[in-house]
Amino acid sequence: MKKKTTTKTQPVTSRYADLKQILEGRRREILTEVQGKIRDVRAEGTQSKSNEVFDAGESSEADIQEDIEFALIQMKAETLNKINEALNRLEEGAYGNCFECGDEISEARLRALPFAVRCKDCEEARELAAEREKIWQQRRGGASLFMDMSS
Ligand SMILES: [Zn+2]
Repeated sequence: MKKKTTTKTQPVTSRYADLKQILEGRRREILTEVQGKIRDVRAEGTQSKSNEVFDAGESSEADIQEDIEFALIQMKAETLNKINEALNRLEEGAYGNCFECGDEISEARLRALPFAVRCKDCEEARELAAEREKIWQQRRGGASLFMDMSS
């Protein structure tokens, strides 16, 4: 039976490999999606241009559809950037630890939220604090009145 140590000197190699796998898996997924989308947009683009050049109504609808597709691709591209940043941080040993308390963020959490910068406890505490702050702000009528006037 293996004994699980919780000392800080414990090697993190297996965790590093797991986290790297999560991030690279996500990156591959998105790359495949983006490549598929770009192919779709190109295929639709050439089709509508050769067949319906003079149909203004149809082509503007196709344009909107194309815009949506491109917006989606752009979003995916931004996610890809984030993954690359996370991979860089992982290389530096700065990925996967809580921004607040420095503890390791659980692998399950990172699998669900690869860009999480806080552990579950700190995130919950933060949300609670934000909630309390909001209530407090609402009670202080003066500040909200001022906000209302500026909007
Ligand atoms: Zn924490």
